Amino acid sequence: MTYNFKRIFDHTVKTMKTFYTTGIRIDYKTLCGYMLNINQSQDFESLLDGVARCLKELLGYELIGFVIKNGETIDALIDSPVSNRSFFGIIEEDFFSQNIDYTVHHFDNASPVQDQDTAAFKLKNLLSYKLTGNHYDARIYIIPRQKLLNYQCETINIVIRTIGIALENHINMKKLENAATIDPLTNCYNRRALNRYIEHDIAKARRHKTDLSVIMFDLDYFKKTNDAYGHLAGDNVLQEVSKTVQSKIRKSDYLARYGGEEFILVLPNTKFSSSIELAEKLRNKIENFTLRLDNYIINTTISLGVATLRSGIDRDGLMMEADKMLYMAKANGRNIVMPNTRVYATNIF
Ligand code: GH3
Ligand code: MG
Ligand code: MG
Repeated sequence: MTYNFKRIFDHTVKTMKTFYTTGIRIDYKTLCGYMLNINQSQDFESLLDGVARCLKELLGYELIGFVIKNGETIDALIDSPVSNRSFFGIIEEDFFSQNIDYTVHHFDNASPVQDQDTAAFKLKNLLSYKLTGNHYDARIYIIPRQKLLNYQCETINIVIRTIGIALENHINMKKLENAATIDPLTNCYNRRALNRYIEHDIAKARRHKTDLSVIMFDLDYFKKTNDAYGHLAGDNVLQEVSKTVQSKIRKSDYLARYGGEEFILVLPNTKFSSSIELAEKLRNKIENFTLRLDNYIINTTISLGVATLRSGIDRDGLMMEADKMLYMAKANGRNIVMPNTRVYATNIF
């Protein structure tokens, strides 16, 4: 990684010295500064903004799109003024797919494309550069303001190679981060990640005096499912339950696997009454869900305990209340929602 970057860095210095001796004035220190900046960016957006600034300020190019295929998903970030049909068509042809997730992103271009007409006209001059790494295929889409000169082609090649390395690093970092925080079977947070995030969300809820609720749930008679259909089928049920719940929650909510077949759902900015409604919706959804496996149809249910943050309880206290409610839901026959209503009567920060 470092070695690659050093090679590009050395190549840049050599190239820029050539330009210097041939009379073209480009400041290699500035270019190297941009490259370092791109490599050190902490997230995807700032990486792309660094690229946009570099292209704009050094060469007068506008970055108008960035598309990345990572596994099965294709994400496209498009500068809003150029989100017209012909541009989408070009991207879909380049990636042989129409299943592309478009997001509007204002790249940090100093003076972005102004309107649709200009954009359509400029699309005729569109350049796209392909980037291929071990884990991704990507393209960046650029509009040059004037005809390319030789030194600009050379410079852009250096920038493109730098982006390639930075992307690979980002994807590797993301993988490491996921391995440490995501439960591999159910694809939701593990307990370690839960503890970190909920602590942060509780502090935020207290600071801003907002609500925070949790739903703890556990699959009913799951041992019987395993016994009847086998452990692998049980794994499938866990995956389906997790997927179903994740599909029903907001972006700011998150699901974590608390133990074997026990999960916790954290709902920031959610009133107690809304969390009870959601719990009931989830209970109903799971009750009506069927998993078809080989010749079997597997049904399952969940029991849920709901608790909300109030003064005088910390993270562990909140979890304990949700756990107590879950225990009561089990004791009361399973496949039911049990909210901590009695405690809620004194719910004031
Ligand atoms: P209850 O309604 O009281 O929760 O009954 P239960 O059978 O669900 O609870 P119990 O604690 O008796 O059994 C939990 C079972 O969950 C036993 C364990 O083998 C199974 N389990 C835990 N983790 C996994 C897993 O990752 N995959 C599979 N297939 N089973 C698991
Ligand atoms: Mg259980
Ligand atoms: Mg359990």
